[in-house]
Amino acid sequence: MENLYNKTKFMLNKYKLSANKNLGQNFLINDEVVEKIVESADVGKEDLIIEIGPGLGNLTEYLLKRAGKVIAIELDERMIEILRDRFFLYDNFELLNQDVLKVDLKKLIQDNKNTRIKNAKIVANLPYYITTPIIMKLLEEELDIESITVMIQKEVADRLIAKPGSKLSGAITYCVYYYATSESVTIVENNSFIPEPSVDSEVIKLLIRKKHPVDLKDETEFFKLIKVSFMQRRKTLINSIVNGGILSSKEEAKALFDELGLDYNTRGETLTIEQFTEISNYIVDKNKN
Ligand code: SAM
Repeated sequence: MENLYNKTKFMLNKYKLSANKNLGQNFLINDEVVEKIVESADVGKEDLIIEIGPGLGNLTEYLLKRAGKVIAIELDERMIEILRDRFFLYDNFELLNQDVLKVDLKKLIQDNKNTRIKNAKIVANLPYYITTPIIMKLLEEELDIESITVMIQKEVADRLIAKPGSKLSGAITYCVYYYATSESVTIVENNSFIPEPSVDSEVIKLLIRKKHPVDLKDETEFFKLIKVSFMQRRKTLINSIVNGGILSSKEEAKALFDELGLDYNTRGETLTIEQFTEISNYIVDKNKN
């Protein structure tokens, strides 16, 4: 831990900086954890790595040594000068001073893939205040990427990588499962950061699926159904579907449940993705007729 801890303290002093909590700045100072992230992301010379929120560059330095190219996207202007100073010797480094949520990642990846750079991967210690919108953007835009290896809050990680239909599952569980397989890489102690975050952290890896696990007749309708089903956790699925405007009456919903052999008291969080698919596809067919 010595090495990154000292470097971080030194840089904060040199540039007279303190972490901006509003931007979710918790700098990683544990070399072992950084190595584990890079290792599990399987970073190599044929890879384009997109790093979200490089901060002072603690993870970036390890990525630059291993990757074909690193494009780092950082919102905080104060970090830009530091990163330029720190990595001016690396010719495989590109820095964008932008809000990641506004970046056209599809184009960025397209423009940077070539005969030498064959795969794109996302690696980051994410700003926790926008974890979910970032992950959803990365998945929903169906980017040409192989994997997403990120540090996030443990509580969010639990939900993201839960098995659909298990106790911890939420709407986002089904979304993640639809686009990727997932695994936990490591749990990270709070003293691995400056300043220490108030929540526990975990590194997870999402491997983008080549083929979706279910055949949806309409993705938008499916995700609307999932969202509505988890909006009011204590309600039965029939009530959620009707209150959420997916079907217009309880009678209609009951007819659907009869058809699919589901109990009227079923709650959304107990259903598998296959069962949600059946419901969604049934509704899509019905609306067509
Ligand atoms: N990667 C560094 C590390 O591990 O030490 C810093 C990680 S820190 C948890 C999150 C970083 O994301 C900060 O540098 C912060 O300024 C940056 N950030 C916050 N919001 C952002 C946004 N919308 N777009 C890009 N970067 C952002």
